[in-house]
Amino acid sequence: MSNEIFWGPDWSELAEMDPEISQIILGELARLRGGLQLIASENFTSPAVLAALGSTLSNKYAEGYPNRRYYGGCAVVDEAEIIGIERAKKLFGADHANLQPHSGASANIAIYGAFCKPGDTVLAMSLAQGGHLTHGSPVNFSGMWFNTIGYNVDPDTELIDFNSVRDLALKHKPKMIVAGATAYPRLIDFKKFREIADEVGAILWVDAAHFIGLVAGKAIPSPVEYADVVSFTTHKVLRGPRGGMILSKAEHAKAVDKAIFPMMQGGPLMHAVAAKAVSLKEASTVEFQNYAKQVVLNAQALSAGLEKEDLRPVSGGTDTHLVLLDLAKTGVTGKAAEGQCDEAKITLNKNPIPNDPLPPMTASGIRVGTAAVTTQGMKEPQMQEIAKLIATAVKDPNSTEVVAKEVAELVAKFPAYPRP
Ligand SMILES: *Cc1c(COP(=O)(O)O)cnc(C)c1O
Repeated sequence: MSNEIFWGPDWSELAEMDPEISQIILGELARLRGGLQLIASENFTSPAVLAALGSTLSNKYAEGYPNRRYYGGCAVVDEAEIIGIERAKKLFGADHANLQPHSGASANIAIYGAFCKPGDTVLAMSLAQGGHLTHGSPVNFSGMWFNTIGYNVDPDTELIDFNSVRDLALKHKPKMIVAGATAYPRLIDFKKFREIADEVGAILWVDAAHFIGLVAGKAIPSPVEYADVVSFTTHKVLRGPRGGMILSKAEHAKAVDKAIFPMMQGGPLMHAVAAKAVSLKEASTVEFQNYAKQVVLNAQALSAGLEKEDLRPVSGGTDTHLVLLDLAKTGVTGKAAEGQCDEAKITLNKNPIPNDPLPPMTASGIRVGTAAVTTQGMKEPQMQEIAKLIATAVKDPNSTEVVAKEVAELVAKFPAYPRP
């Protein structure tokens, strides 16, 4: 072990040199601590991950891959990336891992680059039903440069309609089929997707951004054995640094690596790669497995509590960390609900529900997730409480001050980033 003094985040130095920005950073910490963070794509990453992110690894140019870089001086950072790759392969049982994607969207751009040519047909969940911008939105490269076809959920069960996925696949012969979404609360049957992909000779890509943390924690089944390629963000339930990652079968390793660099990205963010390695170590522990299971139990408790309050969980509940709620019975729009909850110090987002009668910017639903509150140590009894607080804030716009006080009492008992 080196006995050098760690050169890391120094708050007193930042406060002196740039009081404006240091106040903003402290203000954001106060905001995180002062309310309920229920955005389904957010979490509180650990101090260890933050330390790696705030390290001098940020300085190093390391275009290329370990032991095949374009610049000198990479021997030290190579070790971080090699350790990260090995941890990812072991944790997920994958042939190949690429830790360099700057974000989930960057990982996805590279997947199109690796497997498709502009104009190729790609079959993905339609955006209005829970798909992601990078799955074919007309304002995103995916919708501009590829012929994307959207599949839907069954209007009665609100589960993926596999008959329609298969029919669309047979009709359009896609080059690639995408499984994965941003607002789908249920398990996805990866085996069924694999069978359909095989029937039409398509690549199967699983965009696991939302739920990969639950896979890492062995709380839900893994897509890795079925998919040709799996992309994800590292900052959602997985609780790592903001960033992306790709896993693939050995036969696609070269294509994936080339698509990240040099096709889509320049130098990797080596501080982020090191922080990803740290978070993979954390995610390999029994503690993380218990965390992941509690995230799901909490989402189920929250869903049941909200259902009692007339906020209808889409598909009847959840198997994951997120709950999508239809507010029709309350007569409140998603947009109004988001604003009222915000006043009550409950951060969540409006979200379209399948076959939403309202436009996306208003929306009939809200989406909540339990990754962050579970990191704070909350369990089922707190979820019952949170369900009541959300329902009160949504149904009564005059209640927000009272609800905010109760939220403050609750989060004081389960502090985010507790002071030592
Ligand atoms: C969050 C998410 C992404 C994008 O991740 P960014 O890091 O915001 O670019 C991509 N796909 C899905 C399904 C997501 O949920």
